[in-house]
Formats: sequence, structure tokens, C-alpha cells
Amino acid sequence: MAEALLEVRSLKNFINGEWIESDGKTAAVVNPATGETVVEVPLSSGGSVNDAVAAAKKAQKEWALVPAPHRAEVLFRVGSMMKERKEKLAQLLTMENGKVIEEARGEVQEGIDMAFYMAGEGRRLFGQTTPSELKDKFAMSMRAPVGVVGIITPWNFPIAIATWKSFPAIVAGNAVVWKPATETPIMAFELAKILEEAGLPKGVMNVVFGSGSEVGDAMVEHDDIRVISFTGSNDTGRNIASKCGMKLKKVSLEMGGKNAVIVMDDADLDLAVEGILWSAFGTSGQRCTACSRVIVHEAVKERLEERLLVEMEKLTIGNGLDESIKVGPIINQAGLEKIKQYIEIGKAEGAKMLAGGYVLNEDDHQKGNYFSPTLFTDATADMRIAQEEIFGPVVSLIPVKSFEEAIEVNNGVTYGLSSSIFTADVNRVFKAQRDLDTGIVYVNAGTTGAEIHLPFGGTKGTGNGHRDSGVAALDVFTEWKAVYVDYSGKLQRAQIDVE
Ligand code: NAP
Repeated sequence: MAEALLEVRSLKNFINGEWIESDGKTAAVVNPATGETVVEVPLSSGGSVNDAVAAAKKAQKEWALVPAPHRAEVLFRVGSMMKERKEKLAQLLTMENGKVIEEARGEVQEGIDMAFYMAGEGRRLFGQTTPSELKDKFAMSMRAPVGVVGIITPWNFPIAIATWKSFPAIVAGNAVVWKPATETPIMAFELAKILEEAGLPKGVMNVVFGSGSEVGDAMVEHDDIRVISFTGSNDTGRNIASKCGMKLKKVSLEMGGKNAVIVMDDADLDLAVEGILWSAFGTSGQRCTACSRVIVHEAVKERLEERLLVEMEKLTIGNGLDESIKVGPIINQAGLEKIKQYIEIGKAEGAKMLAGGYVLNEDDHQKGNYFSPTLFTDATADMRIAQEEIFGPVVSLIPVKSFEEAIEVNNGVTYGLSSSIFTADVNRVFKAQRDLDTGIVYVNAGTTGAEIHLPFGGTKGTGNGHRDSGVAALDVFTEWKAVYVDYSGKLQRAQIDVE
């Protein structure tokens, strides 16, 4: 199957518009649904990073001088090409990452949307003009590119996250060095090919495959990379941030989540069940916005449990290329082991397991990494299963007595990415959107489903104040420049020569 879609058996780095053999070892990219090797990926060394940064630095000088509306034309072509290749990209995405094909199509669509949205920014990139306090003086602010941008992405959204970061960077006049996750390099290969075919000048996008500790670290340490935009785990993010701090390098971090759905006593329970299933078990719970806590009003707890159990029974688990499958595999053995550990932790903490909790090992599941959708109930807010990111299809119900307690429990975690509330009470809706402390809030919908023209990111331990996607993404990849033009013909001193 992969052979039919992917014309190569081993990937190459993309540096200065050339496809370059690895200077190091390679690793197998394994389909988590079947255990089969899909392709070999280079494990490059820091030397490849140096080559990529040198190429990017040279290319960026020219690229920044191309008028932004013309830079944007490349992205319009990229969006059209991604649209034409959507089905192929989605199938390859399912093969390398495991998410079910319907979700893979959705993820590619997100990239297409981002291409067209950021292409539109080529004719905006708005700054401000503002009156000067002095006569015959003009004042304005404008965005300037930062130069060479380093992008480090995770395996769980291998194409969408890359487009959230690289497209705003490119339209703003930067050049990019991108290190994709080693588990999911195929989307990077395909996207680089599209950018090349769409006419992006050589060196504006460079892809270096390899491990985080080698390639990622070399990017973080490289003095000519002026911004690092990272999405991944908190441990890695902290490590990167501390290194960037020492170098006074701009760093944008999007990290973990412990997202909750709140179900109030007046909620439409059928709708809430649909929202919970989609948010908790879609992508097998391996989304940063996945719902892993359900904060439920005690008056509807039993009814919610019953309905969830009925619907969970219907979830089909298997290879996501089969259109009938709803829950795909876990990315790798390490991910599976982590989930198993949290099942034991939850049991030991005294939460009651109502469904799931095991690795699937029947004949048709033996070669992949499959974990059964799992429901704990009677969890308390302070349990580790209610505090720590599990990154698997495991959800814990936490009963509460009131709206106020629900908000408190939602906010009582170190993360702050996404939250949701199901209620029919308009007063609660407005209080919730004010008081929930996450970067994203949904009302009468689950915790997932971000649209690309809104800011994406989280508060507290999820991020460091920046946002991906939306117009806010431009702030990561540009510097604000203030420009004053004095046409009075004399020296006018601000704050002093004011009449
Ligand atoms: P990860 O282990 O932190 O890896 C993320 C990326 O960082 C990978 O490309 C990885 O490379 C690289 N990396 C690892 N060590 C590095 C180092 N020392 N220096 C520089 N780069 C390094 O995270 P993951 O397991 O792939 O992703 C899952 C996590 O991402 C979850 O916590 C999830 O919540 C989070 N996430 C957050 C968002 C958001 O927007 N908030 C979105 C999606 C995912 P290799 O893996 O190739 O070694």
C-alpha cells in the first residue's frame, strides 16, 4: 500500500532546494496499526543543521525583499496542490501516525485552510499608523521578519502543526529549518515536495530529519536561528526554553493538556456523550486537546455513565485505513506502556474502572499497538489520573455538586489548553467562558475542533504565552518595528519640544 503512494523507500533531507542523503544513520518508520516498516528516515547529525541554517540565512535575505503579496502566491499554489493531493496525503498520514482516515482527511484540510488563510495575510500583514505628538512628523509600526526560524514538531499532528508554524513564517519573509518528529517524517517529505513544486525559492524551507537530542538540540543551540517554535511535551519544552533563555532567543512553546468536559445537570446528555466520545477517543486520545476528564454534576452522573458505556461498546478499533474504524492504534510501545501504567495508578488511587483498561491482543490486533477505550469513574480532582497527561484513550469522571465546584476542578490542574461545558443555561455559559482558565473554551461541544483562523494555544503549563495559528501566529515570526519620519526640517525632540 505504502509503495503505491510513496515513490521512495528512504527519505532524504531537503536543504537549499536539494534532496540530500543522510550524513548519519537511518531509522525505520513503523506503521503503528500493522507493525510494518513504511519507510526509512535519516538520523542526521548537527552538520546537516549547520548546512540547512546557512542555506536558510542566505535565502532569507532575498525572500524578505519579495513583496509579501507575491510571497503569498506560493502559499495559494501550495493550498491548491494540497487540495489536489488530499486523499493521498491523508492515507500516508494514517499509515505513519495511525489516526483514522476521516481524521487524517480533517488534518490535511486544516493544512489547506492554513495555506489559504496565511496567503491572504500576504495582502494584510497590518501595522498601524498613528499620530505623532510632534508637528510635521509621521509615525507607524510595521512587522519585520526575524530571519531564520526553527520549527520542531510532534508526531500527533504531523502536517497541521507544521503548517500552523511554517506558513506564517514564510509569508512574513522568514526562512525555515524544520525538524519533524522521527515517528512521522512522511508528511514533512510530502509538504517539502509541494513547497518545492509550488515555486518556493531554494533555501526558504529546509527539512532536516533526525532525533530531538541531535538535530533538535543543534537547532536550539544555533546562533543564527532567532526563533524556535516548538510543539511537544512539557519536559522537552522546558529544556528548550531554558537553553533559548540563555541565548535570549525567542521561543514559542505549545505543550501538554489535561482537558475537561463539564456536564451540568441541565445538559443535553446525548449531545454531551457524543462530544465526550469524540474528544476522548478520537486519535485514540493522543491529541493535546483530548478530553481526559469529565467533570459531571452528581445529579446526572449515573445517567451519563450508562449512556457512555452503551456508546463505548459501539467503538470499532483497528487499522484506521478501514473507513468503519473509529479508534486507531497508539503511536508506539512506549506510549502503550505509559497508558498501562496510568491504568494501574488509577486503580491504586481508588478510581472505579467501568470499561476498558487493557491492551488488545486478539489475532487481528496483535501486530499493532491497540488499547481499549477506558472509562474510570468516582475519580477525585487530586488523583494523578485526573492531573497528569496520559495521552491515550482513558477518561475519568469526577463528580461535583455545583457549577462553581466544576469550574474550580477544571482550573485545578497545571495545564491550561482546552475546556468545554455542556449546559442549557445562558448565564452559566457566559460565566464559564469568563472563568475557565484555558486558552480554548467550547460550549456544547467537546474539547477538540479548533479552527485555523483563531489563536490556538494554552495558559499555565501548556505554553509560554504565544499562540499558533490565527493572526496571533504572526507575532511569533515577526518583530514589531516602529518608524518615525520627521518632515519638519528641524530637530524635534520627543517629550521635550511638544507645544
Ligand atoms: P516530544 O517528545 O517533546 O517531541 C516533540 C518534538 O521535539 C519531536 O520532534 C522531538 O524529536 C523533539 N525533541 C525531543 N527532544 C528534544 C530536544 N532535547 N531538543 C529539541 N527537540 C527535541 O513530544 P511528543 O511525544 O512527540 O508529542 C506529544 C506531546 O505534544 C504531548 O504532550 C502533547 O500534549 C503535545 N502537543 C501539544 C500541542 C499543543 O498545541 N499544545 C499539540 C500537539 C501535541 P524526536 O521525537 O524525533 O526525537
